Amino acid sequence: MTTATQPLLSVRDMTKVYPARRRGSAPVRAVDGISFDVAPGETLGLVGESGCGKSTTGRTIVRLLEPSSGSIAYDGHDISHLSQRELKPLRREIQMVFQDPHSSLNPRQTVARIISDPLLVQGSSAADARRRAAELMELVGLIPEQIDRFPHEFSGGQAQRIGIARALATGPRLVIADEPVSALDVSVQAQIVNLMERLQQELGLAYLFIAHDLSVVKRVCDRVAVMYLGRIVEIGAKERVYTAPAHPYTRALLSAVPLPDPAAERARERITLLGDPPSPAAPPPGCTFHPRCPKAQDKCRSEAPVLRIAAPGEARQVACHFPEAA
Ligand code: ADP
Ligand code: MG
Repeated sequence: MTTATQPLLSVRDMTKVYPARRRGSAPVRAVDGISFDVAPGETLGLVGESGCGKSTTGRTIVRLLEPSSGSIAYDGHDISHLSQRELKPLRREIQMVFQDPHSSLNPRQTVARIISDPLLVQGSSAADARRRAAELMELVGLIPEQIDRFPHEFSGGQAQRIGIARALATGPRLVIADEPVSALDVSVQAQIVNLMERLQQELGLAYLFIAHDLSVVKRVCDRVAVMYLGRIVEIGAKERVYTAPAHPYTRALLSAVPLPDPAAERARERITLLGDPPSPAAPPPGCTFHPRCPKAQDKCRSEAPVLRIAAPGEARQVACHFPEAA
């Protein structure tokens, strides 16, 4: 990515606070001030344990949720406060792929109807939308003759191809993929990742690719952001983050990724995280990672680290008082 390119997506200090579910309980700061860019045609991986705020981030960017504060700019235009009507032209440009393909497809609609729907919303004629739906089926590796079938007649992997075809119907430039392979059999995951990579190259798509572990996004992403309890704790080029992780949390996530070579697997450092992540309704003081951090010191218990450049001359940023030397 060159500095001359305007980011396609630019998120600044975005927060999303859910109101307390019960009287007396605290509001949930699911996303707590995150900033990042996605360049045209780029893939940014967004990873972190379940509950850290990944889906909330994705859903807020596409404005299925209202941000509590901060800004979201698409192609240089602030979209954080647009009304649903003003958002309509943007719905062509930014699309979402969901985790569980079967539950995100209407079981009573045919594939033709599912894929056509975004086109009909944007004003296409029924005949044009159907023709386009058949083309899209072919593009994602489905058999266009099966256009009048229902989602339950397809396997999980095929159903996710339908979800991808629907997302591509309006010709988006940005796709937010929220754990698009997590619900699929391991053997099918690679096929869907390959498909998404091919589509990216053919169509010049940018992806925000959400996953709960680092192994899934390793192939596809150019850069990766690691999220913990609503914040980004490390963000940078894939090569740097995977080979020289600076944040203890990134190191722990990476040490949980199995290595194909058994000798390397035995020799490498294992970092086991203590306990579960704390609740975002009651985050720990200081660095929110400190109760689980093997390196925590006094400063970490009292002072929240800010995201800053990890080492001179590199773009990677880390939020840690004692980052690993790069
Ligand atoms: P992830 O996708 O990383 O698993 P989510 O964005 O789904 O995380 O959730 C982040 C946090 O927000 C979690 O603690 C979750 O329980 C909470 N949360 C999600 N949706 C709601 C909601 N509608 N109301 C209250 N809390 C919510
Ligand atoms: Mg999620």
